[in-house]
Amino acid sequence: MKILQKGFNYSQDGPGNRLVYHLQGCNFRCKWCSNPESMSVTENEAGNYTVDELFDEAKRSRMMFFDGGGVTFTGGECTLQYTELIELLKKLQEAGISTAIETNASSEHLMEVAAFVDYLIADFKHFDSDIHKKWIGVGNESVIRNLEKIFTSGRQIHIRIPLIHNVNDTPQGFADFFTRFDTSNAVFEFLPYHEFGKDKWTAEYEIENGFVSDETVQNFKNLFVANGLTVVTT
Ligand code: SF4
Repeated sequence: MKILQKGFNYSQDGPGNRLVYHLQGCNFRCKWCSNPESMSVTENEAGNYTVDELFDEAKRSRMMFFDGGGVTFTGGECTLQYTELIELLKKLQEAGISTAIETNASSEHLMEVAAFVDYLIADFKHFDSDIHKKWIGVGNESVIRNLEKIFTSGRQIHIRIPLIHNVNDTPQGFADFFTRFDTSNAVFEFLPYHEFGKDKWTAEYEIENGFVSDETVQNFKNLFVANGLTVVTT
């Protein structure tokens, strides 16, 4: 598996203290991406590991998985490496290690992967496909298809919405979109725009003044809660 970087964090990518692997490669091109070096599928910086090497590393790290922690796969987009990812997730679950992924939810293999995931985190950038395509490079049809399947299945999902000024910072369309579904097993989180990855861009960085106010974030929270959607902060 191609891994760009790895490290521990606490409760930011799933419950408890987790060993987080950033898998190399992404099929999206979000103009605000804070890990642009993770996009390329041929990036030389990525290390190559076998499933068993990663499984052994996770087993050796067990004592670090406190407070319900475990292993999280993020990216880039972790589902691009779905064959090995499924194999590794299965092994981890069989060994009693909690599994989580953070995904852009576009993969046609997402449900196969999610079957071996204890805690599923999915990003959602925009409900309008044309706007999605403008800022991300591809439409949102596959994301919406997957979310529909997940909501219908009733499985747990944690949806993260990055809020970017002039891209997606008005809440009504998002609330209208999600209230079409049974989201009783979903929680929603809003991630205000930041520029932590800006200096890593080698291509031109096209987001200008993407910051959103505290009031905007609160407006999202209030409207979602008023519509019966569960909001969390991590
Ligand atoms: S989906 Fe994530 S990793 Fe991929 S381009 Fe967008 S922000 Fe970056």
